[in-house]
Amino acid sequence: MRRAVYPGSFDPVTFGHLDIIERSAKMVDELVVGVLHNSAKNSLFSLEERVNMIREMTKDIPNVRVESFDGLLVDYMSQIGANIIIRGLRAVTDFEYELQLAQINHVQNEEIETVFLITNLKYSYLSSTIVKEIASYGGDISKFVPAELIDRIYAKYN
Ligand code: ADP
Repeated sequence: MRRAVYPGSFDPVTFGHLDIIERSAKMVDELVVGVLHNSAKNSLFSLEERVNMIREMTKDIPNVRVESFDGLLVDYMSQIGANIIIRGLRAVTDFEYELQLAQINHVQNEEIETVFLITNLKYSYLSSTIVKEIASYGGDISKFVPAELIDRIYAKYN
């Protein structure tokens, strides 16, 4: 059973994340989207809201499961029996940080490999931060997130 984890904050999930989920789900038996409970990062959406949004948006992909996790990614992966990490790469600016993360995770557990998917050209500029910034000014975010999520994002700024 090839089980992978796609970890992230997903605050909120964007078309860029959903594209990585769809593509990586085809490469493994089960893809677990691991939503990080990060007390250091001040998130706009609660953990539960972030998990629910991804669940709704991925309900038609049978081998995708969405869960939250706390603590070290490698520990979570041992718990659920996963040894592949999926990450998305948008630009060279992502590379240095991602390289370091992948190496640290591999040092902690040699069985763990990180697989990078290159962002779809359409979404290479897209980040949760950009979505939040535009939404905070009441701008159009319909090209960045699914229609079902738009009002929930705007509601955070009203
Ligand atoms: P983190 O806080 O861990 O960076 P994010 O939710 O911002 O979490 O991102 C999770 C993963 O999704 C990261 O690997 C990131 O590079 C990737 N990602 C984010 N936006 C995009 C995008 N537009 N296209 C492809 N991958 C993306």
